Amino acid sequence: MTGKPYNTNGPLYRKGVLVLRKCQNCNMPFSWSKVYKAFLGLVYKPVKCDNCGVVHKLTFEGRLIFVSLTGLPMLLFVIFFSPFNNLFATLGVGLVILSIGSLFVPYLVKFKVA
Ligand SMILES: [Zn+2]
Repeated sequence: MTGKPYNTNGPLYRKGVLVLRKCQNCNMPFSWSKVYKAFLGLVYKPVKCDNCGVVHKLTFEGRLIFVSLTGLPMLLFVIFFSPFNNLFATLGVGLVILSIGSLFVPYLVKFKVA
C-alpha cells in the first residue's frame, strides 16, 4: 500500500467501479474523506452534499458492502487464517486488514437520497 488507496489506471477504475459516489440531486462527487468520515467509529452518519445540501443515506446493500470489506475479512483472519500464536499480533494484523478494507468503502458503498 502506498499513499493512494487505488490505482487510477487499474481495470477496476476504468470499469467505473472505483469511482466516488455522486450526489443524486446535483451530480457533485462526494470527496473521499467526506464519505470515509461517515463510517468512522462504525457509527454511520448521513452524507450531506456540500453543493446543494441534500442528505444521502446509506442503503442496506451499502451496509452489507461496508461489513464485508471491513469486519468480515478481519474476523476470517483472526478466527481461521492467523499464523500467529500471539493474540496481540493476530488482533494487530486484523486491525490492519480492517483499515485497508475501510479505505475502499467510500468507492463501493451505495447511497440514496434521504
Ligand atoms: Zn448535491
